[in-house]
Amino acid sequence: LKRTRTFSGVKPTGHLTLGNYLGAVRQWVEVDQHRSDALFSVVDLHALTVEHDPARVRRLSRQAATLLLAAGLDPALCTVYVQSHVDEHARLSYLLECTATDGELRRMIQYKEKSVRAREAGEGVRLSLLTYPVLMAADILAYATDEVPVGEDQRQHVELARDLAVRFNQRYGHTFTVPRATHPAVAARVMDLQDPTSKMGKSHENGSGIVYLLDEPGVTRKKVMRAVTDSGTDVVYDREARPGIANLLDVLAAATGREPEKLAGEYDSYGALKRDTAEAVVELLRPVRERHAELAADPGYVDRVLREGAERARGMARPVVDRAYRAIGL
Ligand code: ADP
Repeated sequence: LKRTRTFSGVKPTGHLTLGNYLGAVRQWVEVDQHRSDALFSVVDLHALTVEHDPARVRRLSRQAATLLLAAGLDPALCTVYVQSHVDEHARLSYLLECTATDGELRRMIQYKEKSVRAREAGEGVRLSLLTYPVLMAADILAYATDEVPVGEDQRQHVELARDLAVRFNQRYGHTFTVPRATHPAVAARVMDLQDPTSKMGKSHENGSGIVYLLDEPGVTRKKVMRAVTDSGTDVVYDREARPGIANLLDVLAAATGREPEKLAGEYDSYGALKRDTAEAVVELLRPVRERHAELAADPGYVDRVLREGAERARGMARPVVDRAYRAIGL
């Protein structure tokens, strides 16, 4: 019996956030690496879709890989590597560009948002920003992936990967496994603490609403205590009407293994909720920060993990991508 194949990744466009951790990384560590044949990638090619600084991308890739290991990914259980170390991603991406249409890419919500932001900043919109979901489809399909554990914001992109797999298979014969997205039950979309109507994203400019995994405990506490809350004083769980409080309840629930609706009934003030949430987040991240410090002091180990990971990943992707080249007529 074939084990479930899992693939997921993080972009080195900024420091990893609590959103990345609760929405994705924690599931990879606690669930996916144990019950499936899993690959986790620092998807550095995706960091080039917006204005970038070469040295910073390299530094952030390294930091992201170190953090994934610090969070508990175990190279004995899963494959951890850097996307650009494996040529098959870019090789397959081109074939999928020949499968996708420009209309379906222009409809992507993230493209719409980020292209507006790039234009407002007076930057050109890189063509790769439009084709980004195609490269992401290649990331997924190259490994015959069954499951893609991601936060809510990636739902539409995984849907595109499914569509492209189905279309390619119908047109050129069965080549790709059709993947499906999985999301955590709680905190699949952690919101910015200063603007609870937009998601906590690592590349947003205003860092005060974002908890970074490597923030000092004092900084994390301050950010949570200053979270924007809704008008009113009673603690109810309502993501539409009370997004600020619902976000804190989601984070506290995820950090403590509770349910947000139940937690809501246990608080009668915003202050107490914030204090408990701040402490829970600090305790949740403490072991990750400690382990990161240890690993950062041992760059040889991280190098070795990434080298071996890339080798394993290449060996898995190569036959799938070769098959796709033959199927499409090359
Ligand atoms: P970012 O938007 O921070 O650049 P990435 O694109 O690198 O994130 O995504 C890495 C993983 O983290 C993805 O699975 C994504 O869905 C998840 N993720 C990112 N932000 C959040 C968030 N605010 N809440 C929940 N999950 C998130």
